[in-house]
Amino acid sequence: MSTYQATLDFSRQLDQQDPLYAFRDRFHIPPAPDGSPAVYLCGNSLGLQPKATREYVNAELDDWAKLGVEGHVHARHAWMPYHEFLTEKMARVVGAKPGEVVVMNSLTVNLHLMMVSFYLPTSKRRKVVIEYSPFPSDRYAVASQLRYHGFDPADALIELQPRPGTDQIHYEDLEALMAEEGDQIALLLIGGVNYYTGQAYDIKRITALGHQYGCMVGFDLAHAAGNLKLNLHEDGPDFAAWCSYKYLNSGPGSLSGVFVHERHATNQRLPRFSGWWGHDKETRFLMPDVFKPIPGAEGWQLSNPPILPMAAMRASLDLFDEAGMDWLVDKTQQLTGYLEWLLKQLNNPRLSLITPSDPQQRGCQLSIRVEGADKSIFNRLSARGIIADWREPDVIRVAPVPLYNSFEDVFLFVERLGEEVGRS
Ligand SMILES: *Cc1c(COP(=O)(O)O)cnc(C)c1O
Repeated sequence: MSTYQATLDFSRQLDQQDPLYAFRDRFHIPPAPDGSPAVYLCGNSLGLQPKATREYVNAELDDWAKLGVEGHVHARHAWMPYHEFLTEKMARVVGAKPGEVVVMNSLTVNLHLMMVSFYLPTSKRRKVVIEYSPFPSDRYAVASQLRYHGFDPADALIELQPRPGTDQIHYEDLEALMAEEGDQIALLLIGGVNYYTGQAYDIKRITALGHQYGCMVGFDLAHAAGNLKLNLHEDGPDFAAWCSYKYLNSGPGSLSGVFVHERHATNQRLPRFSGWWGHDKETRFLMPDVFKPIPGAEGWQLSNPPILPMAAMRASLDLFDEAGMDWLVDKTQQLTGYLEWLLKQLNNPRLSLITPSDPQQRGCQLSIRVEGADKSIFNRLSARGIIADWREPDVIRVAPVPLYNSFEDVFLFVERLGEEVGRS
């Protein structure tokens, strides 16, 4: 650590030594107001476009133009089984078996579909535990599921709280909660990485704890997929869902991935909302009256899949497969580690991190509290080509991502942040 230097030259040296540096060239980096490439630190919100995406999408447009309905079977990548072309690569990203993963719908839709199957309340065991400061959509989804089952969120929705004066969740507090109320809790639905604090939760530990008390355990991996090294199969949660437009660079509003653990692959007792694309592939087009689910995650599909966003996702997953999650996570430790080190060198008492310092408890993102700041600091940074994310009242979230961000990006961000915080 002490071998780091806070100079532009040194950051460029780190880039030269970076085995993933060439991937940066395979993305479109948006321009800053002065025309130079922006310092884009917003991959936790919307990942950048791979240059290959246009080609992948155009190939489908061309096949549609030339083949019409025949494309279902005769497109270069036949549309009928198109979602299957994504499965293995997506499964590698999240550490699952291919039969446990499917790409379909959007994230919040999938959270609802998963809760239909895995939130199975009884009058005694009805509560759902979510993490502190969840993404609003998750809270709305859970609260509406509770009401749908006739429960009052004021009673049945438990938001795990951080220790007073901190922003982080402690496992001991979850253990204490479970010891007290575990027999009333039906479901734990926790984020993989909290979108606001950047804290990464221990999926294995939370899953084991929930299962010990007889609860179902699911994860929203919107900020974890493509960011952390995940081992969903081994860690054993019942389900997970994530979007693909953040770290997974699949384009605005793109599709969601779903994980259903193998232990539920043929579980006929789970209720589920069904559609024809989840039906047994052999007999799907015989249009039978009785639904026969495909074993595994594919059995939760409703509709035939949208090819154009899936083409964009193929372009991105090919890059992930080429780089490999192990290398990406390795670079994250260095890139985000350098960012943290540089922030400390600023030695400005107004700046503090609400993200854990322990690299095991975070991914790319650091959330920086700027005491006494208002959004004008952030606006001045934007004018100087820094693309980051502002959360009221005083937090800047930045996420250098290993596929396309450089050590130079990190250096330029911290230099400009230091100048702008010094100014107001
Ligand atoms: C980004 C994000 C969402 C967004 O949901 P969509 O259904 O894709 O609009 C939901 N939950 C979390 C935790 C997120 O980070």
